[in-house]
Amino acid sequence: MNENRKARKIREKKTVLNEDDILPSEKWLVRFRNPNSSRSQEGSVFIRQFHAPGFYEAYDTVMTHAEKSNLDILWFKEKRNCGDEYVNRNFLELESFCTYCNKKFNHLDPVPCTIDDCTAEFCSKECAKNHHAMRHLRH
Ligand SMILES: [Zn+2]
Ligand SMILES: [Zn+2]
Repeated sequence: MNENRKARKIREKKTVLNEDDILPSEKWLVRFRNPNSSRSQEGSVFIRQFHAPGFYEAYDTVMTHAEKSNLDILWFKEKRNCGDEYVNRNFLELESFCTYCNKKFNHLDPVPCTIDDCTAEFCSKECAKNHHAMRHLRH
């Protein structure tokens, strides 16, 4: 291998490594308390999951959401560091977007598409119906 080729090989390798640095986005969990809950006096407590590439992005996401929705943050950390009782469970996303109308929604019961291998979720039955008619019905 002559010097030029060697240099190029090293450069190529470096590019790949850099891309690896950017790509991974960790799954995080956050535990909130809603102090204004009507369900319990100490407030209701719930967990949401979200993606963030690092601590500061996660912090930012959590703070923004807490402020907007008037929630207390109990803790947040990378899902893989949360222990078995959390790692193998699926939690609701912090914020979901309706696949049909693209509106952000945060309620507990997103309406899933009735087609098995379709992962779309909707803010309302209406949107689910419209999506179904547009995507899955063949005339
Ligand atoms: Zn919708
Ligand atoms: Zn669908």
